[in-house]
Order: sequence, then structure tokens, then C-alpha cells
Amino acid sequence: MAIETNLELIHARIARACHTAGRAPSGVLLLAVSKTFPPEAVAQAAAGGQRDFGENYIQEGVEKIAALAHLGLTWHCIGPLQSNKTRPVAEHFDWVHSVDRLKIAQRLSEQRPTTLPLLNVCIQVNIDAGPTKAGVAPEDALALAQAVVALPGLRLRGIMTIPEPSPGFAAALAVHQRAKALFDRLCASGLPLDTLSMGMSADLEAAVQAGSTLVRVGSAIFGGRATAAA
Ligand SMILES: *Cc1c(COP(=O)(O)O)cnc(C)c1O
Repeated sequence: MAIETNLELIHARIARACHTAGRAPSGVLLLAVSKTFPPEAVAQAAAGGQRDFGENYIQEGVEKIAALAHLGLTWHCIGPLQSNKTRPVAEHFDWVHSVDRLKIAQRLSEQRPTTLPLLNVCIQVNIDAGPTKAGVAPEDALALAQAVVALPGLRLRGIMTIPEPSPGFAAALAVHQRAKALFDRLCASGLPLDTLSMGMSADLEAAVQAGSTLVRVGSAIFGGRATAAA
């Protein structure tokens, strides 16, 4: 199906989920995850009004950012980060969702060009102790957030989670509610957070019900990916 049509369907799903939850649809940002798809697909989505795009692979993302610079899009790095690969991220992206240790945050802060706005970051939390082990443990999130918020090149926006696929709505909701509770605790401790990045193609309704402010949707917009790159 055409990318524009898929975008309309996703906006309708978000609107319905917000209605059910008694939330305003304007409180949920749609991030279109364009990993593995060519710049032409991103340009089509942009023609359909989409502004925010997510990439997992740094080199691929940097190439698309350069190819589409004339469109003035907002680019989010959502993939795993190694500390020796932070420079292109700091120099080209607008957001990073996958900060899970202080060393990465320090490097991003040092490498962020002062000519650019502060780099928006979320701390990735391993909310369900998933086997990939990406993300900080929930009990360590507050200490990391307090260290990151002090870094001069970064603007700490919130937390990001990638739970394991759930067997159904209730199970997905329960995991997302744990992330929301952690987010609320961090806010209550005085951190100025506004972003709870959770929910993907399969579970965005449960994420919105739990309080997500940013859903990351790939396959439901751009179509299926080759499994090796998923
Ligand atoms: C690929 C990816 C997504 C999008 O997943 P879909 O199931 O295609 O919607 C969201 N977040 C992250 C971190 C991803 O890697």
C-alpha cells in the first residue's frame, strides 16, 4: 500500500487509542522508522506530512540525512551505539533514543557541535529484562538520568523502551505501564522530562493507553523489512 495511505491509517490508530485513553492526539508524536528503506521512501512519507524519522544504523542514517537535507526533517537515532561511533551521531542527528551508559552520553555531549542546537536524548531502559540486554536496568535509570541532565551538549528528554513482543494487549499494557511508572518517578524527582518513547507497529495502542508520548512505527508505514535487518 502507498506510504501516504499507511500514514493515514497509523494516525487513525493513534487517534482511536488516544480517544479510548482520554488523551489528546497532539500528545503523541509519530516517529516513522525508515531503517533499510531508501531516501525515496522517506521523501514520500515527507510528502504525506511526516516530519520525524528514526534510523538504527548510523552510516545508513547519515547518508539519508545528507541526501534529504533540503527537506528540513528531524532525525532520531534509535539503534544501539558503540562509544567509538558517536561522532557522526552527534554531528548529524537531532535526537538519540538509545543512550544507556554515561560514557556514550559524555562523548555525544563533547562531540555535539556548538553551532547546532543541543542534542535531544532519551535514556534506553531495559524495562522487561529482555534477552538483548540493551538499556539500563530500571533501578539504575535515575542515577544515569541525573548524570546525563548535567551534560552541556545534551538536552535530556525522557526514556525509551523496546520490550519483547507481548502475546496480547493486556501483557503489552502491563509492561508499558511499568515504563510509565518509572517515567513518572523520574519526573517526580525533579527531572524536566517530556518524552516517553515506547510503542511500535504491533503494540502502539497499548503504549498510548499507558501514556506513551512518542511511538516508533516502521513496518506499518514502509512495509516489511528483510529479516536480517529487522
Ligand atoms: C525497527 C524499530 C522500530 C519499528 O518497528 P516496527 O515493528 O517495524 O514498527 C521501533 N523502534 C526501534 C528501536 C526499532 O529498532
